[in-house]
Amino acid sequence: MSHDLHGDFPTAAQLDAADPLAEFRSQFELPDGIYLVGNSLGALPKTARHHVATELDRWSSLGVEGHFTGDLAWKDYHHLVTGQLASITGAKPEEVVAMNALTVNLHLLMVSFYQPTPQRHKILIESHAFPSDHFAAESQIRHRGFDPTESLVLIAPRDGEETLRTDDILATIAEHGDELALVMLPGVQYYTGQVLPMAEITQAGHAVGAFVGFDLAHAVGNVELSLHDWDVDFAAWCSYKYLNSGPGGVGGAFVHSRHVADQTLPKFLGWWGTNASTRFEMATEFDAIPTIESWQLSNAPILPLAVLRASLDIIEAAGGVPALRKKSELQIEFFDRRLTETLGDRIDNITPQRLEERGCQYALRVTNGDGKRVFEALEHARVLCDWREPDVIRVAPVPLYNSFDDIEQFVQILDGIVT
Ligand SMILES: *Cc1c(COP(=O)(O)O)cnc(C)c1O
Repeated sequence: MSHDLHGDFPTAAQLDAADPLAEFRSQFELPDGIYLVGNSLGALPKTARHHVATELDRWSSLGVEGHFTGDLAWKDYHHLVTGQLASITGAKPEEVVAMNALTVNLHLLMVSFYQPTPQRHKILIESHAFPSDHFAAESQIRHRGFDPTESLVLIAPRDGEETLRTDDILATIAEHGDELALVMLPGVQYYTGQVLPMAEITQAGHAVGAFVGFDLAHAVGNVELSLHDWDVDFAAWCSYKYLNSGPGGVGGAFVHSRHVADQTLPKFLGWWGTNASTRFEMATEFDAIPTIESWQLSNAPILPLAVLRASLDIIEAAGGVPALRKKSELQIEFFDRRLTETLGDRIDNITPQRLEERGCQYALRVTNGDGKRVFEALEHARVLCDWREPDVIRVAPVPLYNSFDDIEQFVQILDGIVT
């Protein structure tokens, strides 16, 4: 951001006027008010109505033949998003698939990548993991006949700190060493917005012989990812946050190419994982698709995929995650400055300050402890954001559809509420 030495910073209006992505806001249907909660549920792409209507029409006119007819044949419909998901996650097409939902995918991938032995049985997660991730890891440990009190390792920020230190993560991995079967951490932490150093963590996990997987719920569509080059073993995400696929939208999964054809990995099987050219012969011999698609169980949910397609096309037209991130960094710089100028120490911004350690989501704490009241007053003022227990207000300016003016208005409304 350019500004002179006298602190003459650009205004929200100037930044919006110069924003090459500003036009994309008009491609979404946003609720009344200021929508700053794309970290929880992304906005509705207008073209989703068309894509969904098309599939309803095809169902109406073709019935079951829709599975096999035309470019949009439902049996192959999930392939329509593969290239775009690969580009968003830094993966090869054979490494990504849209399927199921996030927690389901974490379980399916742990079936393959959590293979405990009496010597090597631990899973490392974060102490403040999203509860679903905690439950998934804990139940996998029990399912394999181990005890979470011995096998679930929790890493926490240091006392008095909000975020995890890389050195502590790497030291914990080394400390558990050959007892560690799996490291499963978030790409972006849901509460603080912290981006974890995924490449370094992967390297450290591999150095002790563990598999490494990431939950990318808050990372996908938010920060740039290079899952293939980072050598990550697996990852899973939901697409209703920054990928705008709608409530309960279809999830996604990544398995590194060096594992996708490995038939020695244990795996739960379903008919959608077997060779598509012989699938409908209904033979019971499993002929694994030599890509991540062999992890698929069921035929794909076409209507949620239709919404996802609409959104991925818009993200691609905007220039993909690098273009979104470029705008996001300007928004972060603007938001940080306006918060400091306007609210000073009335707000404690616990989001990491370094750009490489954060995405677009902010975690704000009201210094005087009045957070819940402030959150309720924000809701009353039609600012859509969210509250996460015990004391954080999360707001996310999403570069695809939030303006600098949204940020400015939020800061001014907050200023009027926080005492
Ligand atoms: C949003 C989110 C979930 C939600 O899981 P679903 O299976 O999609 O309901 C799980 N974990 C994390 C870290 C999340 O941010």
